[in-house]
Amino acid sequence: MNKGNRLKKIILADYYGFCMGVKRAISLTEETVARYGKVTILKEIVHNEAIVEKFKQAGIGQSIHIADIDGGTVVIPAHGASPEVFKEAEIRGLAVVDATCPLVIRIHKIVKRLAENGYHILHFGDNAHDETLGIVGHAPDRVTVVPNIEALRALGPIEGKLALTSQTTARVSGFVEIEREAKKKYPQIELFNTICNATNQRQVAIMDLAPWVDLMLVVGSESSANSKRLAQISKAICGRAYLIDNARDIKSEWFSAHGANIEVVGLSAGASTPDFLIDGAIERLKEIAGCAIEVVYPPRKSVRNELAIDDDD
Ligand code: SF4
Repeated sequence: MNKGNRLKKIILADYYGFCMGVKRAISLTEETVARYGKVTILKEIVHNEAIVEKFKQAGIGQSIHIADIDGGTVVIPAHGASPEVFKEAEIRGLAVVDATCPLVIRIHKIVKRLAENGYHILHFGDNAHDETLGIVGHAPDRVTVVPNIEALRALGPIEGKLALTSQTTARVSGFVEIEREAKKKYPQIELFNTICNATNQRQVAIMDLAPWVDLMLVVGSESSANSKRLAQISKAICGRAYLIDNARDIKSEWFSAHGANIEVVGLSAGASTPDFLIDGAIERLKEIAGCAIEVVYPPRKSVRNELAIDDDD
C-alpha cells in the first residue's frame, strides 16, 4: 500500500454509464457517417467531452446552428430539437437523421397533445438545456419552464387546464417536491412524471451506495445534467463526492490528505459516459492505492426496462 492512503476497495453503483438513448444516438451517427458523405452533428450528439471529441477527430462536423450547415446530412442529437429546427433543415435542403431519444420524443408528444387540448404546461427543467428548448418548441405559447421550487412559488394564479411535466434527467426528489407544491398551489394540475427510467435507476443506485462509502466519484462531463445531479446527490449523502471528466481529474491528495481516511470508494457515471472512461478511473484508483484492491461490479442488468412507458401517458 502507498504510504499516506488506505484505499482498499472500489464499489460500482448498480446502474451507471451509457443508457439506451445515448447508445442509440451514437450508433445512428456512426451508421450515418458510414453511409453518407458529409455529416454534421447539431450541437453535441450527447453531453460527454470524450464522445464529442471522438467524432470531431473522425472529421465529423459539429454546428450550433442549422443556418451554418452547408449541405449534406444533419444529425439531431439525443436531446432532441424543436420543430422549427427540423423546418429550417428542410428549407436548407439538408437530409435529417433524427437521433432524438424515444423517451424525449414521448415528452414532445405529451406536450403537443396537452397544448392542443387547451392545457398550459409547467415543465420542470433546466432553462437553457437542449432538451428543454426542444420541448418548449413544441408549444412555445403554452409551456412555462420551472427550473426549481422558488420559480414555482413565484408564479401567479393560473386558471384552467394545467399540467406538470419534467426533464428526463431531473432530480427525482426535486420532482416530488415540485409536484407536492404544484398540487397545493394549483389543485387542478395533472401530473406527468417524465423522468426516464435510466435517470431513475442511476439516482436510486447512488442513494443505495453513497451511505456505505468514504468517497463517491461520478464520471461525467460538466455539460451532462444527469451526471451533475448524480454528483450532487452523492455529495448530499456521502459528504465527499467529485464529478470527474476522466481519470486525470482524480487527485492523489484526496486519499492521502490528513484525516482523509478513505478505504472504500463508490463509483458511478452519467448516462452519457462511455465505459472506457469508467475503466480508466478504476485503473487510476488502483495506481493511487499502489497495491491490489478489490473492485466490486454489479450484476449485469438489462437495459430493456429503460424503455418502459406508461400507456396512459
Ligand atoms: S437519459 Fe433517458 S431520456 Fe436521456 S437519452 Fe438516456 S434514456 Fe433517453
